[in-house]
This record gives sequence, C-alpha cells and structure tokens, in this order.
Amino acid sequence: MPEPETRYSPPAFGAASETVLPPAYRQMLEDLLALCRRHLRRVDEALIGRAFVTAYIAHEGHLRASGEPYITHPIEVARIVAQEIALDDISVAAALLHDVVEDTEYSLELIRSEFGETIARIIDGLTKISGLFRSRAVTQAESFRKLLLSMIQDVRVILIKFADRLHNMRTIEALPPERRLRIAYETRDLYAPLAHRFGLFRIKSELEDLALKVIEPEAYRFIARKLREKKQEREAYIERFIRPIRERLEQTGLRFEITGRPKHIYSIYRKMRTQQKPFEEIYDLFAVRVILDVPESEGKEACWRVYGIVTDIYTPIPDRFRDFLSVPKANGYQSLHTTVIGPDGRPVEVQIRTRQMHEIAERGLAAHWKYKEGVETQNAELDRWIGWVRDILESRMEGPTEFVEDLKLSLYQDEIYVFTPKGDLVTLPAGATPVDFAFHIHTEIGLHCIGAKVNGRIVPLSHKLQSGDQVEILTSRRQQPNPDWLEFVVTHKARSKIRQFLNEQRRQKIEAGKALLEKRLERLKRPISDQELNRVAAALKFPNVAQMFYELGAELLKPEEVLHTLEQLERHPEQAASPPAELSYLEEARQESRDAILIEGEPSGRLLYDYARCCNPIPGDEVVGYVSRNGILRIHRTNCRNIAHLVQTEPERIKRVEWARHKDLQFIAGLRIMGEDRVGMLNDITGVISRGLKTNIRSINIDTQDGIFDGTIILYVHDLEHLNRLIERLRRIPGVYAVTRFEG
Ligand code: MN
Repeated sequence: MPEPETRYSPPAFGAASETVLPPAYRQMLEDLLALCRRHLRRVDEALIGRAFVTAYIAHEGHLRASGEPYITHPIEVARIVAQEIALDDISVAAALLHDVVEDTEYSLELIRSEFGETIARIIDGLTKISGLFRSRAVTQAESFRKLLLSMIQDVRVILIKFADRLHNMRTIEALPPERRLRIAYETRDLYAPLAHRFGLFRIKSELEDLALKVIEPEAYRFIARKLREKKQEREAYIERFIRPIRERLEQTGLRFEITGRPKHIYSIYRKMRTQQKPFEEIYDLFAVRVILDVPESEGKEACWRVYGIVTDIYTPIPDRFRDFLSVPKANGYQSLHTTVIGPDGRPVEVQIRTRQMHEIAERGLAAHWKYKEGVETQNAELDRWIGWVRDILESRMEGPTEFVEDLKLSLYQDEIYVFTPKGDLVTLPAGATPVDFAFHIHTEIGLHCIGAKVNGRIVPLSHKLQSGDQVEILTSRRQQPNPDWLEFVVTHKARSKIRQFLNEQRRQKIEAGKALLEKRLERLKRPISDQELNRVAAALKFPNVAQMFYELGAELLKPEEVLHTLEQLERHPEQAASPPAELSYLEEARQESRDAILIEGEPSGRLLYDYARCCNPIPGDEVVGYVSRNGILRIHRTNCRNIAHLVQTEPERIKRVEWARHKDLQFIAGLRIMGEDRVGMLNDITGVISRGLKTNIRSINIDTQDGIFDGTIILYVHDLEHLNRLIERLRRIPGVYAVTRFEG
C-alpha cells in the first residue's frame, strides 16, 4: 500500500499541527497535553503531537457508529490513559495510534519507522488478528492470546486495551443492540475480571456498571434510582457514623482522610442476586474508608492503630474481619477490613489503608508500573502478574476457545489462603480442592495425588479447602488423573494439566486401537479403506472413527464386532446410513404462545420458536434469541448464563427479539419464598397467588428445616408486571423473609 505513505510525510511538530489540524482539533491536542502535564511525570510533547497528527490524518473521513469522526475515539482513549491510568507519554502516543494499523491503510512498518520499536510493539499487541477463514470465536481467542503475550513484554499493552474498552463501553449506545450485547458480555466476563486480576479496581467497577446497563437496563436503572432516592439519608448516616471517629483521629495527630461512598451498582446487583434479597435489605450499600498519609515504613502500624480506635467506638462483627495488610490479595490489594455495628444497629464496613496502598487498590498494575518507571530495581508485584499471565499462556495445550473459557473461570474467583506442612502460604481461588493445591505445588505431585490431609484429617480429593487450612498431599506412583477431577478442580493450571494428561492418554488408546484392528485385518489379508472405516463407525453409532479406535484401544469394544459389522456392510450396503430423527422436537416447539415475540422487528411468521428452560423468559424480560441446531429459535433472558456464552461463540446464530404488544398468554415462571415455618403459611401463600391474583399454580415444592420455610412455586403468569405484583404481595405476608424469582 504505497499510497498512504506518500500522503503522509513526517512533519515536524508545531508546523504540522498548525497546518494539518483544524482549530477545534488543535484545541483538543492542547487539552490532551495539559492533561498529560498534570498527571504524568515527564511529557514528550513533540511525540504526542506527532502521534496526534498521524492519527488524525490516518482516520480522516472515517466515522464511528455514533456518526462522530473516528478520531474522537483514539483521543478519548489517550485521555483515559493520561488521566485515569496515568502511565507515561509513550502510552499516550500509543493510545492515539492504537487503531491506525487495524483500521486504516497505514502499516506497522510505517509506525515503526516514524515512532520507533517500542510504540510499534505496543500497537502490534493491540491489533487484532484478522481471520477470514476462521470462526469469530477462534479469532477472538487468538487475538486475546496475542494481547496477553505482548503484555509479558510490555504491560502497557493491556493497560491501553482497558482504556480502549472503557471508552467503547462508555459510547456503546450508538451500536446496534445485538453487538451491544456481545460486547457487554465480553466486558463483564473477560475484561472486568481481568482488570480486577490486575488490581485496576476503578476501571473494573466502571466496566461492570456499563455492562450491566446494557445487559439488564431495568435492574441498572432501578438500583441507580434507589441510590439517588436514598442519597440524603445515606449521607446523613455516614456523617453521623464518621464524626466520633474523626474526632478521635484528630487527637492522634495522624494525617488522614475519611469518607463514605456507595459501592458500585453492579456489586449491589450481585449482592441482591446472590443473597436473594430486595434492595432495602442490602445493608452494606456503602463502605467507610480511612486513608492515612504516613511514611510507608509506619504504614501498617498506623493502620492497626486506626483499627483500634474504630473498634473502640463501634463493636466489630468478629467473622467479618479481613487482614489484607499482612497477607495481600493476589492482585496486590492491601487494606484492613472490618465490619462494625454502627448507629441504629446497622452494620458498616470500614476499610483502613495508607495512601500508597490506596493508589494500588484503585490502579493496581498501573500504579506498580509507574513506581517501577525510571528505577531499574525489580518490582516483585509486577513480576508476579506477568508470571501469572505466562503460566496461563504456557500451560495451554487445548484449543483457543477453551483457553478463553478457562481464563474466564480462573479470573472469577475470590481467594483463600492455605498452608503447606512447612507453613508456607499458598493463595488459591475459593473453591479450590487438594488437587488444585497439588498442581500448584508441582505438576508431578498433581498427577500422582491420591488423597490429602487437611489439618491432619484425611479428606477426599474433591474436598473444598478453607482459608487457614494446612494441607498435606498424599501421592502414589500408580495414581493417575481421571476425568472426574475436571468436575471439581478450579485452577487453570490443574485443569489444563489434567486435560493434557487425558488427551495424551486418549491419543495413546486411539493409536493402540488402530494398531489392534490393523493387525487383525492383516492376518485376514483384508485391506480396508477410510471410507469403509467411516461406514463401520457410523453403523456402530460412533460419532467418528477416532472414537471407535479409542474404544477398541480401551478394550470397551471387541475387534470381532468391528470385523462382523464390516462383513455385514459388505453383504447389505444399503443398511449403512440411518439419519437421526428429531422431528418430535419440532412438534413440541409448536406451542400455543405463538406471535408473542417479534424477531428482528418482524412478526415470527412461520419461524418456530420456544422459550429456554434454563431461564424461562416472560414478557417484560429483556430477551435475545438463539437459533439452535434443529432450526428452532430459542428465547433466552439476556441475563441467562447460557446465552452469554453463545453470544460470544456463535454470534451468527443470535437474533434480536422483543416482545410483541400485549398478548393474553400464559408463561411459566418460578418463585422462591423463604420465611418462618408457621401454621397457615402455605395457606396464606397459595391464597395470595390463586385467590388474590387469580394465578394458576403448576407445582409447589416445600422444604422446612429448623423452623425455616423454603418453598419453590412454579406458576403461570402473563408478564413481568404480573410476576412483580405477585412478588410484592407475597412479601407482605407476615413471616415471609424473602421472595425472589427462581432462576434455573
Ligand atoms: Mn479502539
């Protein structure tokens, strides 16, 4: 592509920005430079100016989905990098240029000759792999892997990527709904947890909120509104809570800042869902934070001193105490957390940390990177992050999409702290088992672990470890991983090593099976073609020839059966194929609730659809459609776990759907009710449902234990409004603690 290279010859900064940039853009450049001066230690203004002009020319004439000039995007990304991540001038320049290679005719070579190796390498890392002949899921996974690989060389790559994603999420409204959804899921399931893993708490929180706003706009708006409504009351309470602490702290002469801020919307949403509680019953909507301006060497001691003061004023709840001061989280987070009983008996979480700990808590990797800058000393924390990424990349033996799935799994989890018999501390994700622990210690120990002693007692391999456990692994030379282990391990390393072992074992069995059959046929002097092999495998109902070989090798299938089938096929070739019949399924899909939805804005017409059983959508829910293998469009709720995965891996099968105007139809929905197990409770509940709201009940399931009533009710409703009305009414029954929609 020689054309653009002649269009742009590197101008000296100053003259170029004067002649090339219209006044509005000159102003934007000035604003960006001002931002850099404010937040960065050192600013090469000429470099940023040149990058700005280059990006401006390269993207000239391109528009974003919103209709704005494309260049506004790289400029905003550069502003985020300068201000919110506060890296360095190189990153700001790279952010300005980050889409040039991917989206314009400018080549990486040009960037390299104009801006040097460092910037070129960062931009290369940020450029997606284009894959004309591969599926979207594979190219996505490969691009992601490339991003992580480049990050090992230069962490700025991933930091700029977060800024890029943040700006795209902030402006996502301009995209068509189905793309919005795909990007939102990817943000929620991959980028936000990854940002969390790298300790970028502020960016992670904003990404989560923006994703929720797309995936469940109603829930987002509801919580945002509630937070606004309660703002005054909340602030008055926080002030009341803080006042005595502030007074005591002032007497100590410590320099400090104390604030109370609401938690972000997504974290409240998650609490409501996991605790199955309405908004009003979530007490820890905010946290009070004490930040100390003390020399680093006195940091920990000062934090403990503040802890003493806080718990002197308010009674702490013992099992809510967390000491991330002595044992930082894997993402580097350090702080003291305690929950105390505040005025009116309300529990309040208090976090205590130093200024530097705070900066690391908010900006994690970025903060560490900044502290490293200019200094040649090693930064252990930074090395740990890079080591973590390297581990994930190196242990990968499976396909690219499994890699992304595994990565997601290993990103999600909370952490526990356990000990080796020698007392060494090991950090593992919550839910980790002795097998995870064993693989963490060494692959060989993992491959041969047969059991474990936890705190001196023998436990099974699937036992879930708890913080504080001391774990000793028992091994046996004869032990081997088995597929069941995959059901309970949670770490990426254990999972991929087990899979690697099983794949290798399977490969050996396939080889053995193949050799066995070949030997038998040789003895019979009967050659066999690939075609014949395929036909035999099909006749024996194997999905493929490899599976047949595997079962031969594993001695699950006798070679005689294969030979016999071969003989049969020779005699009656017409019996070879038998197509699978799934017609009954189609019939089942022909439900009465037709015409309830619009597909891509059109009536469904002759297209068959039905409702996913995993999430049971009802009119009023946010929904999306997925064309399943048998051609039926299945309607899921957008917050369904299953659909999030499908939107990522098979976007071509996703259809935009919405509810048609009111139809008097019946939909299945489930409710979970918890309360006191008192006389007449069931009667009151069914009374509200069937008499009060004239709703048909399909089934009721009740469990009572220790005076607690726990019921699941499946019923027929018209729409979300109907269901919500039911929930409201049921909550008012005396003795009912919680009523929630039953998921799955
Ligand atoms: Mn971009």
